[in-house]
Amino acid sequence: MSALETALTEWRSALGEEHVITEPEALASAETATFATTQRIPAILRPSTTAEVQACLRIAQARRVPVYPVSGGRNWGYGSRVPPRDGCVLIELARMNRILAYDEKLAYLTIEPGVTFRQAYTWLKERNSPLFITTIGGSPEGSLIGNALERGDGRGPHADIFNYVCGLEVVLPNGERIETGMARFPSAHAAPVFRWGLGPSLDGLFSQSALGVVTRMTFWLVKKAPYLHEFAYAVKEDAHLWELLDRLQPLALDGTLRNSLFIWNDVKALSIARQFPFEHTGGRTPLPSFMLEQLREELGRWIISGAISAQDEELGALLQRRVGTAMEGLGHRLEMQDRGPDYESAFQGRPSDGNLAMTYWRKKNPVPDPPHPDRDKCGFIWCSVAVPFTGEEAQAASAIATRVPRMFALEPNVALLALSPRCMYLVVALAFDREVPGEDERAMACYQALQRELIQAGYYPMRLGLPGFPEEIPVQDDSRTLLKRLKEAVDPAGIFAPGRYGF
Ligand SMILES: Cc1cc2nc3c(=O)[nH]c(=O)nc-3n(C[C@H](O)[C@H](O)[C@H](O)COP(=O)(O)OP(=O)(O)OC[C@H]3O[C@@H](n4cnc5c(N)ncnc54)[C@H](O)[C@@H]3O)c2cc1C
Repeated sequence: MSALETALTEWRSALGEEHVITEPEALASAETATFATTQRIPAILRPSTTAEVQACLRIAQARRVPVYPVSGGRNWGYGSRVPPRDGCVLIELARMNRILAYDEKLAYLTIEPGVTFRQAYTWLKERNSPLFITTIGGSPEGSLIGNALERGDGRGPHADIFNYVCGLEVVLPNGERIETGMARFPSAHAAPVFRWGLGPSLDGLFSQSALGVVTRMTFWLVKKAPYLHEFAYAVKEDAHLWELLDRLQPLALDGTLRNSLFIWNDVKALSIARQFPFEHTGGRTPLPSFMLEQLREELGRWIISGAISAQDEELGALLQRRVGTAMEGLGHRLEMQDRGPDYESAFQGRPSDGNLAMTYWRKKNPVPDPPHPDRDKCGFIWCSVAVPFTGEEAQAASAIATRVPRMFALEPNVALLALSPRCMYLVVALAFDREVPGEDERAMACYQALQRELIQAGYYPMRLGLPGFPEEIPVQDDSRTLLKRLKEAVDPAGIFAPGRYGF
């Protein structure tokens, strides 16, 4: 019997037959991302408790079979469920979907990795909670923990999501279990409310990493503001945007803008509102500039959107005036649709799959409900880098992000996400149709050229997908050696998520 067959027998007895999946259809679906991949997945394990995760890893360790964890499996644009290396068995944590603790006064929620954005939102809503959990622009069925571990970005004051979590429970590759912060001490009252604990803080080691399966995490919730006002401004010229960013950054720093700010270019805004206008181009791609200008109409080159939140209307109106003054002469206010009395804002945690339409931009069939870009052969790759929050830096990085996709006959879909007063993420989406011959290869070549140029200009990735070639990112110190030593200490057989983030 091969090592894999022995491991499968042992996993079946640990989890039950039905939770060790080897049906070719299920495996083929897990092997599919929104870009070309070749990795094969021999099986999917579906543990339902921390003890079962420990058993899975002990068996993997003993039999030297590599494994790879996913929680919601919606890492679309970064690699979906596909592991970086061939032959990894998936550990899928969707069955671990319990909400373990909630405290309204101290504003936290402790959950397992299978808990989705939609589930947590609905759970809080059913309890008429005055609190919300930060949501993202991606799938409502994504995992809160999977997203936080990727250091995802959301809407609202806790937009830098991993900054607002604590008390991780982690199963190490050898099956040992650890807890971070105060949670490692018996009956520690401050475990869900104090991040650092005592001594070295370990949380960061398990994000964007390959050192263990996170089986529990506490998220700090945000109090809903009595006054919330969403706004959007159109910006006609690139030069106006750079100046506006320098006017808005001080407002983020002084607290006028407490929520994350979203700056989308015309292609991005358009690709959410509609699909590629094949009917106007005679079926040809890419979209000519003059047609883009016609289609975007009053939207301009960029749209800046965000939300003002305040304790009362008077303060809210004052903050709104400050934003209006900053926009004067350069930004043109867009009327927001009246969304009715039941409207709930994404800035207060309402998840939506509206933005997923973007992944169908180049598809000829309409966006289905619900969308599923892996299944529908949507081509989609994210390239995401960190940029200081100044007009000059945004201009330099955006110039690369706009120029390179055009060289590969793709429309530049560019966003700047201001998550803090200091730093923005420049997020470029490459959208294509995997069913058109040659597009997979062209899009991947584009991604690699884009990442290379951004790195050469000093803009480094803040999150990597499968094609991120982490080994090629230059470092100027001994950190790579340290990380290698850590990996060898925690996972000497190299069976856990091999290749992830260069580990
Ligand atoms: C149109 C569109 C919009 C998007 N908008 C956003 C956005 O606004 N913000 C954002 O952050 N992302 C966004 N995304 C990207 C992505 O969809 C989300 O980040 C999503 O949350 C990731 O999927 P998931 O939560 O199901 O994580 P998973 O796929 O479960 O996990 C992601 C990765 O984390 C690791 N991991 C997962 N669970 C564990 C665990 N328990 N222990 C150890 N490691 C683990 C694995 O390596 C896994 O591959 C968007 C994607 C699309 C297509």
